Amino acid sequence: MTETHNTDIIIIGAGPVGLFAVFELGLLDLRCHLVDILDKPGGQCAELYPEKPIYDIPALPVCTGQELTDRLMEQIAPFDPVFHYGQMAESLVRLPDGSWQLTTSDAVSICAPVLVIAAGGGSFVAKRPPLDNLDAFEATGGVQYAVRQRDALAGKHLVIAGGGDSALDWTVNLVDLAASVTLVHRRDDFRGAPDTVAKMRALVDAGIVNLAIGQLKGLDGDAAGKLSHVLVQSAGAEAPTAIAADVLLPFYGLTMKLGPIADFGLNLEKNLIPVDTERFETSTPSIFAIGDINHYPGKLKLILSGFHEAALM
Ligand code: FAD
Repeated sequence: MTETHNTDIIIIGAGPVGLFAVFELGLLDLRCHLVDILDKPGGQCAELYPEKPIYDIPALPVCTGQELTDRLMEQIAPFDPVFHYGQMAESLVRLPDGSWQLTTSDAVSICAPVLVIAAGGGSFVAKRPPLDNLDAFEATGGVQYAVRQRDALAGKHLVIAGGGDSALDWTVNLVDLAASVTLVHRRDDFRGAPDTVAKMRALVDAGIVNLAIGQLKGLDGDAAGKLSHVLVQSAGAEAPTAIAADVLLPFYGLTMKLGPIADFGLNLEKNLIPVDTERFETSTPSIFAIGDINHYPGKLKLILSGFHEAALM
């Protein structure tokens, strides 16, 4: 081992829920070490939607994913958490005294009586549309699965694909900045928050957003991989319609890869960790699971649900 630490609590995952757990545990005078494979805190908020507005944090009418992360970091600073970034939580061993030893991919060893798994979707990967020449356009930024820099999309022709919250939120939020926004969804029925669906429909009615009902069929561009058109096949149409596009933003959700946590000997249900709803403890005493990674009847994958779970845990 290159490095060994002893602490009160080990937290796997420095997403919003892992960060808020530091606050709740800090109130109990418990010190935390956090391990995250990302090189920064914030989990999905910082990695997948740093500039997307979040509207459902109590008493914060709106903040972006990055602002929420920055505020959480400010809130937990007095408790002096120790972060181990860029490291996978790889193996877990129970020590003779009943405490846990977690070892990371950098051979850092952390020992504590309690382990908290706040690993969200694990190593999350965006679902890709089934298009032939996707790789070339991904490499040039013609296809992007997250808006990392909103300003970089200024003046561009954007095609946004999907029918859920992300597709709708970005449609509404990029319209002021882009040269054009076309929303593509396979049917005229959206899964997003009703308010955002209404905003999107108003923009379509006003002729500000184009709505294309159909399936993504192909991508056109030059030999260097610069995207020029997205082809959309509508039901009943003989040929696909070519929609001018500099960037395609497919928001088809994420696939979850639990990774090494799957080998920690915990009961799993469809790659999620079942917990009780009093303590959010797993099938193994002194290992807790909070946030998107856990499962119980009525679970909602929301940041505020994870905050609630951290408080009860
Ligand atoms: P995550 O944010 O997924 O963080 C988990 C962390 O654990 C990650 O950083 C990951 O790298 C790390 N990790 C996992 N496995 C390991 C391992 N073995 N070793 C080391 N590190 C590991 N929710 C809302 O409430 N409001 C919204 O408006 C909203 N908008 C969203 C928009 C999008 C596009 C997406 C994708 C989600 C949105 N959500 C929203 C959901 C919200 O982001 C999640 O509920 C929240 O991020 C869950 O937090 P978490 O801390 O449990 O997990």
